[in-house]
Order: sequence, then structure tokens, then C-alpha cells
Amino acid sequence: MTTSTRSAGRQAPEELFAEVCDRARHAAVLASVESLLGWDEQTYLPERAGGYRAEQAAALATLVHRERTDPAYGERLARLADGPLATSGPPEVSGTIALLQRDFAKQARLPPRLVEELARTCVEAQQAWRSARAASSWNQLQPWLERVFALKREQASCQLPGRDPYDALMDDYEPGATWQAVALLFERLRAEIVRLVAACVASGRRPDDAVLRRDYPRAAQERFVREVAARIGFDFQRGRLDTTAHPFCSTMGPDDCRITTRWDERFLPTALHGVLHEAGHGLYEQGLPRDWFGLPPGQAASLGIHESQSRLWENLVGRSPAFWEWCFPVARSAFPAALADADAASVQRALMAVSPSFIRVEADEVTYNLHVMMRFDLERALVQGTLAVADLRDAWNERFERDFGMRPPSDADGVLQDIHWSAGLVGYFPTYSLGNIFAAQLIHAARERLPGLDGEIAAGRFDGLLDWLRMHVHAHGRLLESEPLVERATGMPVSERWLVDSLRSRYASAHGL
Ligand code: ZN
Repeated sequence: MTTSTRSAGRQAPEELFAEVCDRARHAAVLASVESLLGWDEQTYLPERAGGYRAEQAAALATLVHRERTDPAYGERLARLADGPLATSGPPEVSGTIALLQRDFAKQARLPPRLVEELARTCVEAQQAWRSARAASSWNQLQPWLERVFALKREQASCQLPGRDPYDALMDDYEPGATWQAVALLFERLRAEIVRLVAACVASGRRPDDAVLRRDYPRAAQERFVREVAARIGFDFQRGRLDTTAHPFCSTMGPDDCRITTRWDERFLPTALHGVLHEAGHGLYEQGLPRDWFGLPPGQAASLGIHESQSRLWENLVGRSPAFWEWCFPVARSAFPAALADADAASVQRALMAVSPSFIRVEADEVTYNLHVMMRFDLERALVQGTLAVADLRDAWNERFERDFGMRPPSDADGVLQDIHWSAGLVGYFPTYSLGNIFAAQLIHAARERLPGLDGEIAAGRFDGLLDWLRMHVHAHGRLLESEPLVERATGMPVSERWLVDSLRSRYASAHGL
């Protein structure tokens, strides 16, 4: 830049861009501390420390919000958006400017009082959820959910006024998505899944999963799942694995990605497939452009894309015959007693049992989507005002009975099972099934472009697939929304047909159909 532009009080656009990025990075540093507190809350926080943690979370949320909505920052962003870099800069620069400006506008429309109240209420509501679920008492949680949904509706009307309130909330997780488009996609998927589930259940040849329900000692499981996660590419020098009730993946820095799992010594997939899932999220986080950490090119495109990465490793890789060709000998040396009389084919087949059940996180790959679509419809009705929180439990039980042919025996097995609503995660559920849809389409394209893929997987080589995902998904960060991202990666418009084909071909044969 020249001194004359500086003396005129105008900055070179590049200098202005660097300043704006520094500010956004600083907000990301604070937000990462928020994530660290959230991770700690789910893993190691003493039971009675929750009250003060709510204060800490609210204080940090206020700080992060203040940082992100600082008028001086907004003014610099507006100048940048009017300048040449916004229109003719390199794509990652123009994309960063557009997305930071959109983020700023959305944040600036939220009153600080609402941000603080949401943060505090959600920490308290999550604590109420934990004891309500332990006591299986809907009445304990209901007043909290009333508070949370009232705040979320207020958030929706503030942050994207004029938009449908559910779309306004979904925008936090799946930018660009609308509930009508998602509902259409789900409607087609649902019809196929209902048919497939009915056929599997009626076949009378459900794969026997007894081999997965033997004794799998926790210490051996810990060593085994770490080996599998490292083998698919999760970098333990830039991440770690801990224990929680409700597994998740959280990032606190460019080299700090934490995944968690729970353990069941009588059911191997709880930890193994849980870790494949969370490590899939972790691979995405670890594969985002590191130099752009805290800025849009270094951020995930959406939760649907995030979930496509976890589901791809959990289900499309982790339940495949090729994967078990490699994994079985590793598993047998970890669990010599449990797997003494088993082989790769019997374990793989055991993983393909379809069986309607009450709990989403324990659901098989096929019925899982029915759990998600039900929550999508219920939470939308709550936000759009056609269902009152007071009627949620009954609505849940009725809908569950319609979809699954059975009624939850308790609130803990029904409306109280998920943490999401008490955590303020409303508009989040549909991203799970969107992830399944994207994952099936992505691996279909990867298989076409990498003809030896299954052979590589069978040999325990996962880098070909991971490199493909790095190049076509991870490298774009948040610069593309999920639909254009999947379209560009696969050369096809987003459709549920790849998921339907994949489920049908794999599960029909496993059930002798
Ligand atoms: Zn996930």
C-alpha cells in the first residue's frame, strides 16, 4: 500500500481484510474457550458444579457476542464489502467477506440480553434434563423446555426476521436450507424406509447379532477403538478420546479436536461404531484448512455435511464386508474369547440387523431416519406454534406408535431421551438424516472415481478415501453451502436415491429379501 492512501485515512483493502480477519480470529479464540467449557461440562464437571458453570458459560457467551457485534468491526466489514476484494478478490477472500458480513448481521440483530439468557437457561435446562431423564419424569423437564422454546422463538424472529421461524433456527446448522425442501426430501425417503423396515421385519430372517453381545472388556475395547480410529486417519496428536454419556466431537483449536464415546461391555458397536462416527467428525475437523482456523474457509460447511462424514465412516465403511476383512483379525486379537468361533462375515452380518427400537442413538442404520424425521416434524410444530410444549409428550408417544408400532414404556425411553432441545439445539435434528443422504451420495461418487476402493479398505488402507474426502469436501471449508458442495463433489444434484439404493441393496440381502 502507498503512504498517500494511508494519509488520506483510507486503508488498502488487503490491510483492512487482515484487520477484519484478526478480529474474527480473536472472537474464535473466545468461542473455542466456550467449547472447552462445554466439553468439560459433558466429561469431567463435578455434579454440583453446574450452577457456577452456567455463570461461566453465560459470561463467555456475552463476551463472544460482544466481540462479534462490535460496531467498529461491523463498520470495517461494511467498508470491505463495498471494496474491490468483495467482488474481485480470490474466492476464499471474497467468500470470507460475504460470510463474515452475514454472520455479523445475524449476530448484531440478537439483543445481548437474549444471548446471555439463552446461554444460562440452556446450561440449567441440560442439568434439569439429566435429572428428569434419570427419574424418567417428563413433568420435571416440561417447564424448562417451555423456557427454552420461548427463547428460541425469540431468537428466530430476531436473527432472521421475515423468515419462517424454523428456517431461521435451522440456518445456524444448515445454512441455506428450508423446511419445505427438507420435508420433501424426507417424505420420499420416509416412504422407502417404511417399506424396507416392514419387509426386513416380516422376513423372519433378521441377522442374529448375538456375537456382538458377548463379553467385550472395557480396557480391551479402549485399545481396540483407538487403533481403529488411528488407522482410518484420526490424529491423536491433534485430538483425544474421552468418555461421556452422550458422545460428541468438539473442536477447541486447530490442533485440538476432542471426541467422546460411551462403553458397553455387552455390546461391541456402542463404542466401536460410536467412535467410528465421532472420528469421522474428527477427520473432517482435522482436514479443514488449518491456516484459516476461526474463519469461514477453515470452518465446516454445515452440520449436514459434518454428519455425512461421521455416517460415512460409521455405516458405509464400518458396516461393509471390505472393512471387516481388515478389521476382524484386529478385533479377534483384542477379544480372543468373544470372537473365538466367529469370522469376518458373521460379525459383518450381525451388524446389519434391522429392529425398531425406542432409543435413537441405539437405532439401526435403517430405522434411525424414522427417529430423526419424527423429531423434525415435532420440533417444527413447536417452533411454528402448532404444538404446545405441554402436549409434547403425548404427541411424541402417539407419533412413535404410528411410526414404530409400539409405545415408549417410559418418558426416559421416549421424549426425554435426547439432550438437544434442553441444550437449545432446535432445527438440528434434520441434519442427521441430511448427513445420511449426503454420505450415501458421496461414497457412491468416491467408488466410481476410485475403482479399487473396496480392495484398499479390505487391506486396511483408508487414505485413498480420506484424500478424496479431503479434496472434495474438507478443503472447501464453509465457502460452499451443503447442496452445491455435494453437487460439485459428486457431479449430481442432491437426492435421497443413493441412500435408498444403498440401504435397499445392503439390508435386503442381509435379510434374505
Ligand atoms: Zn454426529
